[in-house]
Amino acid sequence: MSVIENADGSVTVPAEPLKSIISETFSKLGCSRAEATRIAERLAGANLRGHDSHGVIRAPRYANYLQEGTQVADVQVDIKIENETLAVIDGKFGFGQTVGEQTVDIGTKKAVKNGIAITALQNSGHLGRIGDWAERAAEKGLVSIHMVNVRGSLIVAPFGGIDRRMSTSPFCAGIPMNNGEEPIILDMATSVVAEGKALVALKGGKPLPEDAIVTEDGKITGDPNPLYGETKQGMFPNPNEGPGALRAFGNHKGSGLNFLMEMMAGALTGSGCAGTISEPKRRFCNGMFSIYLSPEAFGHSDDSFVSEVRSYVEFLKSSRPTEPGGKVLIPGEKERQTMTERLENGLPLAQEAWKDILNTARNAGISQSTIDHILN
Ligand code: NAD
Repeated sequence: MSVIENADGSVTVPAEPLKSIISETFSKLGCSRAEATRIAERLAGANLRGHDSHGVIRAPRYANYLQEGTQVADVQVDIKIENETLAVIDGKFGFGQTVGEQTVDIGTKKAVKNGIAITALQNSGHLGRIGDWAERAAEKGLVSIHMVNVRGSLIVAPFGGIDRRMSTSPFCAGIPMNNGEEPIILDMATSVVAEGKALVALKGGKPLPEDAIVTEDGKITGDPNPLYGETKQGMFPNPNEGPGALRAFGNHKGSGLNFLMEMMAGALTGSGCAGTISEPKRRFCNGMFSIYLSPEAFGHSDDSFVSEVRSYVEFLKSSRPTEPGGKVLIPGEKERQTMTERLENGLPLAQEAWKDILNTARNAGISQSTIDHILN
């Protein structure tokens, strides 16, 4: 399969060549081959699962981060505090794809040995799709919970407020299965939508829910424009510039959950919250507070945990659908369906996103003939 150009200018790109272009780009920009491959795998993996906002569209931004020093190549994390069940880890602004992996490996090793473990990761580069980390823990047979904040990113207004005080802080949890079954992964931003979805709506794509945005006068709307304000000719819409804000999902409840992400991933890990009155603009990083639990430590033997999970999933899915022909899905099921379809048909990308990825590759020093060779 090669790149398909669609009538509306968008493209459909097979996953493998797309990964190669991104991996070559980061290799040229100074990452080791292993890290460049990791970044490409994780970003394309987000697209494969339908989370385009956290996929390859981020490659140009990551390249800028690397060149500006916001994110650093090939970091080995420092463990600042450690005991049998806890590690406080400094990610030193390394790529999230690298320091996230190192952190989860530290936590899962402790939990496999001791039954439970906690990792507190501070100063991580962008951790991408948080479901990756729950999947990695599930590979070791562990339940895991991940709470994440984004220091330096003010994009969400608290419930009842207009001004931005929060980030899109994701919450994620993973339940391991066995016999080759995929784990169950709940992975969600605590805003009504991720920012990337607002960008899609701004560009004329799928509209936002009617409660996604609060305007500067406190009105609630599905119009994405207040998030970006006016975009100057030739500039990319900037979600940090608009007079409005995204809203937390579920009114006061989602806003409360978002607050908890700041407490755990920002304050408790030592990574720092989104902002403060005296320091509203902080250096960008992710903090991640993770808990790893072995079902065996709770007295489960063999598959008693998994068989209870399986029975409950069956019960849940037996609920009658609200729409004729509809289906009740469990967390992570939609991502798996999207992945099956996209592995076969390729990843859809907006024209602008594709151009940006190719320009980033060219700017990194990859020749057009190499790009053509990868794509054909
Ligand atoms: P989403 O709204 O598409 O999905 C949220 C959850 O709901 C998923 O677990 C999904 O499986 C489930 N779901 C979706 N449709 C469903 C249905 N019909 N029935 C039942 N369950 C359903 O996800 P999102 O909130 O837009 O988050 C997108 C991604 O952004 C996530 O991977 C998240 O980790 C990532 N993110 C990362 C950061 C960061 O700083 N690194 C910040 C915010 C978000």
